[in-house]
Amino acid sequence: MEISSFTELLEAGASGKMCTKFPCTTCGGLPFRNALKAFTKDGVLSDLRQLSEEFLAKNSSMFRLIVSEISVFPTGGDLLADLDGSAAAKQLLANIDFQNQRFVARQAYLASQTPEAISRGRLLRKAKRLDATALHRDKKLATVDGMRAASDTVNLTPDHRILEVITGTDLGVSKEALGGLVFSRLRKFYKSNTIEKSQLDALSDLADTYLGHWAKLLSEIKSHKNR
Ligand SMILES: [Zn+2]
Repeated sequence: MEISSFTELLEAGASGKMCTKFPCTTCGGLPFRNALKAFTKDGVLSDLRQLSEEFLAKNSSMFRLIVSEISVFPTGGDLLADLDGSAAAKQLLANIDFQNQRFVARQAYLASQTPEAISRGRLLRKAKRLDATALHRDKKLATVDGMRAASDTVNLTPDHRILEVITGTDLGVSKEALGGLVFSRLRKFYKSNTIEKSQLDALSDLADTYLGHWAKLLSEIKSHKNR
């Protein structure tokens, strides 16, 4: 593209004939930057002083691209004196303020990231995760082998001692799953046998904690008792 003046370059950018996205990860604004190099810094600055607030607001990305190309400092603070009193100076100041605010916010964030804060956040997230997957983990514990072993133990336990054994022993599978394993047997047993206080307490605990079959069993035994 043949560009003979800075004004023409501005038009090419404003009309979208040249990429003025800033920053642009595709072209890096190189075609525009290279064209810009044909003009002297003083000439560009004096043309920038003529730009209207409206044009600058509409082409803020192009303005930032130009500033990044002609300034010594990344923010363009060195151009403020040259642009003083113009709309471009106002726009540049707003950009610098914005960048400073971002810098300050970033510094505050980094300062808040103490080792203690980081590990506290990590622990909180872990607890949350464990909480969210608790149900899945309990189900996973009820593997076929685990259930078979637990079932063997339970089968060797006399009816009246099952609640006590399940409450006081880790059988390798979740107590939630064990509820399903012993439900029919205990329902039958407690239909013809009075439940003792200690057994009822154990069952109440299981029902409160694991619900499911335990809660169902408790409610059946209670309603049977009340009859
Ligand atoms: Zn681009």
